[in-house]
Amino acid sequence: MKTLISADRIAARVAELGAAVTRDYAGKELVLVCVLKGSFVFAADLARAIGLPLRIEFLGVQSYGDGTVSSGEARITLDIAHPLAGWHVLLVEDIVDTGLTLSFLLETLSSRHPASLKVCSLLHKPARQRIPVAIDYLGFTLQDAFVVGYGLDHAGLHRNLPHIGVMDRQ
Ligand code: 5GP
Repeated sequence: MKTLISADRIAARVAELGAAVTRDYAGKELVLVCVLKGSFVFAADLARAIGLPLRIEFLGVQSYGDGTVSSGEARITLDIAHPLAGWHVLLVEDIVDTGLTLSFLLETLSSRHPASLKVCSLLHKPARQRIPVAIDYLGFTLQDAFVVGYGLDHAGLHRNLPHIGVMDRQ
């Protein structure tokens, strides 16, 4: 495994994303929806880079088994108890790969009538995307590689790495 994106580069990019969100959502009722488990580290840092009052909700979704290949399925494992109607929802994702998970989440959350629904993803692998979904705020674009760290796991491990590392696809 080698370092692909250092902790310093991540911190600098998260500060920029936080500043953009702060500018765009000034005066609005903002809810960050942290998609568990992968985005818990990113969402924690992003929330602290946003200079606005905001709510944070957690949504559990499982889209992969323990391997590195998408099962093509997503399901909610932990739902948000609080209604989203009338709130400006920013979905915080760790990575958009095929786009299946994100399109499923956008469909699920839009049925709850938020005032607006946008996406902030730390990582994107455009070469692997199968479903077209717009990412409003993006950290980094990646080549096709399986990455871990900064919240992302492989078989449940490596989420606590402070940087993004790259693994060989298994
Ligand atoms: P998609 O539905 O877009 O194919 O996959 C999205 C989910 O797959 C992410 O939220 C993440 O859980 C997982 N995933 C996709 N690519 C990677 C990767 O390179 N590393 C890790 N750890 N998870 C990934």
